[in-house]
Amino acid sequence: MDRKFLATLRSLEEIGINEIYGFKSKAEEPDKKIMLEDLFKRLSAEKKCILYEGSGGYVFGDGNPDSPVVFVGEAPGEEEDRQKRPFVGKAGRYLNTKLEEVGLKREEVYITNVVKSRPPGNRKPTKEEMMSCLPYLRKEIDIIKPKLLVCLGSTALEGLLGKSLPVTRHRGQLFEYPYNRNIKVFLTYHPAYVLRNPSADKEFTEDMKRIKELLERL
Ligand code: URA
Repeated sequence: MDRKFLATLRSLEEIGINEIYGFKSKAEEPDKKIMLEDLFKRLSAEKKCILYEGSGGYVFGDGNPDSPVVFVGEAPGEEEDRQKRPFVGKAGRYLNTKLEEVGLKREEVYITNVVKSRPPGNRKPTKEEMMSCLPYLRKEIDIIKPKLLVCLGSTALEGLLGKSLPVTRHRGQLFEYPYNRNIKVFLTYHPAYVLRNPSADKEFTEDMKRIKELLERL
């Protein structure tokens, strides 16, 4: 405990205040990194998040556990499966560039996926596969407690909120996160979609700017 803080506590004691509720000193705060490591160990041991069999294993979230924003993708691809880190392939490199354009660095944010193993042939994960991984994703979010969740593509939104909506019509929209009222959900394109459809780049850039603004406002 630092000296200034101790002095404040003593002054409060002098006027009869001996306990402060709802306060946690830094030393008492749970270490998010350790909690995430424990969650990853649990995920790996329980193997309840299906798709594991036949894949190269689990690819957990990655980045800054204190980030105010969590980017949620669909599923690891080939490169992610190889490196065991999300968004490290072509789509990931493009996402990093777009983050930098609005002054966000990849290592400052947290990036994860709805499902934690690569689906065969990179197909879209099924509802059942997404549901089996949802408890781990929810716990991951619960540990990080970001202000904003950014769903990269409609599958991420479907996996997280169970809503099946076309991104072209609903991008830029904010949704409630039903498990924590302090967290908002933002929908934008999947970076791989933008790479395949370069005309969507302008809107993706707009969305990135909006994300930056929301982080300053929320
Ligand atoms: N696409 C995703 O949805 N996630 C990744 O990790 C990589 C590509």
